[in-house]
Amino acid sequence: MSRRDALRLLGGWGAAAVAATAASPALAATGGGATAPAAAGAGTAQPFVLAPLGYAADALEPHFDRLTMEIHHGRHHRAYVDNANRALQSHPELRALSAEALMANLATVPESIRMAVRNNVGGHLNHALFWRLLTPGGAKAPSADFAAALVEAFGSVDAFKTRFTEAALGRFGSGWAWLAAKNGKLAVISTPNQDTPGMEGYAAIIGLDVWEHAYYLKFQNRRGDYAKTFWSVLNWDVAAAEWRAARS
Ligand code: MN
Repeated sequence: MSRRDALRLLGGWGAAAVAATAASPALAATGGGATAPAAAGAGTAQPFVLAPLGYAADALEPHFDRLTMEIHHGRHHRAYVDNANRALQSHPELRALSAEALMANLATVPESIRMAVRNNVGGHLNHALFWRLLTPGGAKAPSADFAAALVEAFGSVDAFKTRFTEAALGRFGSGWAWLAAKNGKLAVISTPNQDTPGMEGYAAIIGLDVWEHAYYLKFQNRRGDYAKTFWSVLNWDVAAAEWRAARS
């Protein structure tokens, strides 16, 4: 595949265009009481902002390649941010809600923008965590306390990795595999499209993007190789911090 073909292919998967025009009822149902689990330091207040990666686009080579990182962050994630802000700009009554609160209370978002919010605010939230979960250096294994929690929940760290990989491979089409926590219990789940664990009351701890745009340039159809490579760039320190935040 040429670079140009690849760019065209990836560019074709932009987030859905949105049109936020209809007047909407006030968001009375949430009353500011939304209780979605907050991602540590995610900065998910409106208007949403595309944060820098925090490392060079080629820093994850040879595991995750530079071009995929550039397109994935600079085009796909940027499109989610721009489309989310566009959908919400004519809804000042929603302005105070964080990305987490919007996703946890989608039923109260006006129907005219609900799908745009679901796809694009979800896409923003999922990717904001994903970039933080990747690192060129850092711990290559979970800290003792986090490892103990994984052993308790799954039998062993390797058993957790197997379950997580099964979730990544088992997700038909586009979506995410997750290690998530609810009521203090760890679980491996997966979500379609840009749905978030928070929509089901889970706190996201580790997420792997299994949309083809996340791996096709380097791995083509070999999602399993991509999922295996993820362990070489996963920032276990950030994952452990997310786990501790989910418990508190
Ligand atoms: Mn993605």
